[in-house]
Formats: sequence, C-alpha cells, structure tokens
Amino acid sequence: MSKAAQDLPPAVIRLAGIRKTYGAAVAVASLDLTIARGTFFTLLGPSGSGKTTTLRMIAGFEYPDTGVIELNGQDVSSLPPNARNVNTVFQDYALFPHMSVLDNVAYGLIARKIDKASALKRAQATLDQVRLGDFAARKPGQLSGGQRQRVALARAIVNRPQVLLLDEPLGALDLKLRHQMQIELKQLQSETGITFVYVTHDQEEALTMSDRVAVFNEGRIVQQGSPADIYERPANAFVAGFVGTSTLLDWHGETLMLRPEKLRVAGPGTAAYPGEVAVPGMVKTAAYFGSFTRLTICLENGATLIAAWPHGHAVDAANAPQVNTPVTIIWRDDDAYRLAKTA
Ligand code: ADP
Ligand code: MG
Repeated sequence: MSKAAQDLPPAVIRLAGIRKTYGAAVAVASLDLTIARGTFFTLLGPSGSGKTTTLRMIAGFEYPDTGVIELNGQDVSSLPPNARNVNTVFQDYALFPHMSVLDNVAYGLIARKIDKASALKRAQATLDQVRLGDFAARKPGQLSGGQRQRVALARAIVNRPQVLLLDEPLGALDLKLRHQMQIELKQLQSETGITFVYVTHDQEEALTMSDRVAVFNEGRIVQQGSPADIYERPANAFVAGFVGTSTLLDWHGETLMLRPEKLRVAGPGTAAYPGEVAVPGMVKTAAYFGSFTRLTICLENGATLIAAWPHGHAVDAANAPQVNTPVTIIWRDDDAYRLAKTA
C-alpha cells in the first residue's frame, strides 16, 4: 500500500442522515451507511426500495434533501460527479459504436490528457484483465452482450477509480453468462482492490459475490451484514422472506424461520431424536427443480412448510413423497432460527 493510501480513512464512503424525495414520493426515507475500503458491498432489495437513488447520490447524479455524503472523510455532498473519485457502470453500457473496443476503453484516459501511447497501453492491459485482450480491434456491434458488458467494465476501471458503482449490471445477460460474470466480477474486485458498490434485486447474486450486504426495504436499510448473517440470522420477517426461501412458523409464542434444506421429510409416524422436533403433515405440492424436489407440506394447525427433497446418491425425484400422502417433518431445534419480536 502506498503512503497516500495508508493515510486514507478506512471508510471510503459514509452516508449520514440521508433523505431523498421526489415531490410526494419518498425514494430514500432515512439512511446511514458506512462502506469500508476495498470491500464488495451490495445494496440488495426489491424494486422501488431506493437502491438506485442511493447509488446515484454517491455518484453525484442526485443530491440528497438532507444528510451528508463523505468520500475518504471529505464532504462531497455538493460536488458534481466529475469531482468525485467514483466511476459508474451503467446498465445500458453506453459504448461508442463507431470506435474500436480499445479506443472505447482508452477514451477516458485520453480525455484526461494522458498521452495516446500510454493510454492505449493501459487500455490494452485493462482489456486483458477482463479477458478481452484479443478483441481490442473489434467494434462493440461485433461483440456478444457479455463481451460488451466486459468492455463497459474495462472502461470503468481503466481510470483506477477508488470506488466503482454498478447498478444491476448483469440484468440483461442470460443465466449461465450471469453466473460466469458473477465469478469474474468478484475476481476483478479482489485483484484491483477497488471498492465495489453493487446494486441488485437478486438475492443469489448478493449472497455469492458480496463481502457485505445492506438489505433495503421502502427507502431504508433493514439489515446489514455478511451474506451468512442475512441468510442465517435475518433481522426480521422481511429479510427472511426476501433472502432465500424460508417458512415462518408461529410456534409456542415464537416465530421460527425454517429453511427448506434444514427440514427432513420422513415417513408418517417417524419419531424425533433428542434435540429434534417432529410434526405430522401432508404433502400438498411437489415441484421438480433438477437437483431437488420442492415440497409444500401442510401441518395440522394449517401452516404450510416448504421443504427440499434433495436428489443425490441413489435418491431422486421418484423417491420423493407423493402429493396427498402423510409425512413427518423433522428439524433440529438448533436449526430453527428464532426471529426477534418486532414492536
Ligand atoms: P430501486 O433502484 O431500489 O428499484 P429507486 O431508487 O429507483 O429504487 O426508486 C425508489 C423510489 O423512488 C421508487 O418508488 C421510484 O418510483 C421513486 N423515484 C426514483 N426516481 C424518481 C424520480 N426521478 N422521480 C420520481 N420518483 C422517483
Ligand atoms: Mg434500481
């Protein structure tokens, strides 16, 4: 780490008391957020929860009604985008169609008066970094969607910004490519050490890529933590429902969260071992998911549980309990997460 980098505060971004409205519409109700340098930080939440607005305020494309935005400890709340050491990857890529891939990536450097030879050299090195080294001479129109996405990334990191803002950048890609790009983005983030602030509504993306996740709901952050924190120890029913599949069960005055993979589905009358709970139920639906069958199971008190019947060694969908047959649902008491009571 250089001397200059050592002197920087550990929080690269700090938002305090942020509120943003558009007329009567409250986009961000109240927000405090600290992002540590060098992390892959994800803003996760449903559509309309205020993620893009938050990202645009960090970039400087929008200004908050109240509150302070700091970059490296400096108040940038009223600075324009080009005065912040932050870069953004937009959803629509916005590449110049008439320029080669190399020129697209070098453009920002040349605009900053870096001499052309060094700019092209750095652009080529950045294209290598996103595995597009051999495509430098092509035009954007001669690339696939995934390759165009990587050009947009190269263009955003060639300036070596401290912070890269990404708003649902993989939304337009097919599932397989999205999974591949998730791994590559994560790698790129750790190789470059750039702080990534990543917006998505896709909980799987948030879990697989992030060091830290802030879960948004209705213009507020409802939980912050590691992917395991938000999946295994959700702060409330909203997070339990939004992140992964779960069943919330009212049980002896508590609310239990039961993940499908924690439930064992056994034959009727199966007894529990010590430390386990066994309840009778009836299979209502069975859906084939390839690696498992998803079962919904109705309990005697009317509650419905979602369980996964894993397909594995010598077990497949044909062994799964049939719809309208009785079963026993068994879970370890330790695997049931007790949700905090909300006022
Ligand atoms: P997200 O990115 O989580 O889907 P947004 O930040 O885009 O959410 O939007 C949050 C809320 O603010 C939404 O209800 C949206 O309709 C509203 N909003 C966002 N931008 C504007 C705008 N320019 N004018 C009016 N309302 C807006
Ligand atoms: Mg958005």
